[in-house]
Amino acid sequence: VTRAQKIAELLETALQNTEGEMGEGALVDHWVPSENDPADNRLAVSRLEELFRGTGFSDADAGQIQAALSRHEIPHDAAAHLAERLRDFIGPLVERMLADPDARVRANGARAAAMALPRERWSPLDAGAVPPLIEALRDTACVRAAAMSLGHVGDLRALPALIDAWSEPRNRLHARFIEKGLTDIATREAHAAPPPVPADLPDRVRALLDAWQPADWVGRACKERGGLPLGGNQIYIWALRPDGEILCIDHESFSHATEPETDPLTRFAMMVQGARRHPELSDAIPRPPVNARPCAPCSGTGARPGQESGCMSCGARGWTAG
Ligand SMILES: [Zn+2]
Repeated sequence: VTRAQKIAELLETALQNTEGEMGEGALVDHWVPSENDPADNRLAVSRLEELFRGTGFSDADAGQIQAALSRHEIPHDAAAHLAERLRDFIGPLVERMLADPDARVRANGARAAAMALPRERWSPLDAGAVPPLIEALRDTACVRAAAMSLGHVGDLRALPALIDAWSEPRNRLHARFIEKGLTDIATREAHAAPPPVPADLPDRVRALLDAWQPADWVGRACKERGGLPLGGNQIYIWALRPDGEILCIDHESFSHATEPETDPLTRFAMMVQGARRHPELSDAIPRPPVNARPCAPCSGTGARPGQESGCMSCGARGWTAG
């Protein structure tokens, strides 16, 4: 048995499914427990670790691990255990995958990284990994893995790109994975510490405002009040001021009554909508409230064909209080 065959065998055992599956019986479907024992998975991972610690970790070994972690059908728990135990070896490998020119390799690398390391340990890779994952959302071949990984490790910056991917007709087969990615990020970030407001946000908003020529009276009403439009419905338009205040402008009223928006769900949802139009606002998306859920009828866009003043399920926010 060659070294490569030995590794292939151990990887096969380490990543085998121990969950069982639904079987078809004569009368009723029934659950067939797997014959694979989870203890075998763990033993195989220990053997791999021993092998690499004893005899080194070659490029060929890295290639085998990369191929194994790139398979989409492998059980998440088994892959996570493998990746975590072997993290000393696969860390550099994952970083190389994340920098690969091929979007699929990058998506698989991010998937491996997401499985490999709990979020707190992932942070050294985080800065490098989130942008390639967001990039991978544009590729239908990668969109599912990328959405799930972003759900696992991604941050609020990923929300605008996930919504864009969700509303793409060509991604409709992956819709529930994209929705899950959005929900997972919102749920986790709702409980996280509020992200710091970027220090240069006022300058960036001012630059966007200066460059923007309003095309209609609603836009002019925003600009007169010093606000950059984020989104709106049949009654209100929301606009961001350079100081971070979000204005709610009643464009139906003659005086365009204007108030600061205080509802956390609306503030969050409007910043996500604004960041879809102006990606440079992505790092200023505030923490969502705990009950924020992406609106499925409009795929989080707030817009629906035939509903000219915006999705009626979410009041054109793209998010609802679930
Ligand atoms: Zn909606």
